[in-house]
Amino acid sequence: EITLDPPLSTRIITISNQKGGVGKTTTAVNLAAALARKGMGVLVIDLDPQGNASTALGVEHHNAVVGSYEVLVDGVPMIQAVKQSPEHQNLLCLPATINLAGAEIDMVSVPNRERILSTALRDFLGESETPIHYVFIDSPPSLGLLTVNALVAATEVLVPIQCEYYALEGVTQLMANIERIKLALNPELAIGGILLTMFDNRTNLSSDVAAEVRKYFPKETLNATIPRSVRLSEAPSFGQTAISYDPRNTGSLAYQEAAIELSQRGTGI
Ligand code: ADP
Ligand code: MG
Repeated sequence: EITLDPPLSTRIITISNQKGGVGKTTTAVNLAAALARKGMGVLVIDLDPQGNASTALGVEHHNAVVGSYEVLVDGVPMIQAVKQSPEHQNLLCLPATINLAGAEIDMVSVPNRERILSTALRDFLGESETPIHYVFIDSPPSLGLLTVNALVAATEVLVPIQCEYYALEGVTQLMANIERIKLALNPELAIGGILLTMFDNRTNLSSDVAAEVRKYFPKETLNATIPRSVRLSEAPSFGQTAISYDPRNTGSLAYQEAAIELSQRGTGI
């Protein structure tokens, strides 16, 4: 068993790709669960109105739950809205309710609207009774104000890329947007990495896409690659991550490898 050293300061990792269905949420919750299992203190911030990350972590997110909407729009302190994931030790979640679907409009009149999450999160990290070593922010499939808040709050961004046709489509645009946020709003934002997801070793297509991504992003792309695995897709229906549902599964093992790699290589790429 590899033991991990906690980072010197909290790493805040936004999982971003404006395409839907590329594995953002699956990546956020399974990396979070893998690091929590290694004894790290972890917080997952669900910023997608679908609330899929909250579901996977077994955290309630019906519309009466106080969650990310109330933090962003009503100014509720994050410490009052964060819940413990019942399935994992050391793993907290700020849930997303369907209310969040209206948040981008409701946030428009708030001063410094790009920095609401960043400020709320820094306050939380100062107040939390337990140490938080990693924060994962699961963002919606768009480049709107929620995603901007996620990128402004982050120290790094991790981009999942699905090993499918058109994998790189939109990635150039995403990188340009990250650069823009960096210049205008968050100079410390780093590319934390690119993670290849849904790799199918029975197809040439997956290998071709993986090779192409590694050619364009040789430093950024993690060595660990996430295979297609039914376990990864069925775990959320049990209110679980694959890490807790079936830790020996190939998908779970790959996320554990990716988590270790992420932790060991730090932010400096
Ligand atoms: P996103 O958050 O980018 O929309 P998800 O993480 O929700 O993407 O993944 C999209 C769908 O694909 C979900 O149904 C999820 O369970 C499934 N999925 C994600 N990763 C894998 C994988 N490696 N193998 C099989 N299914 C996966
Ligand atoms: Mg998602």
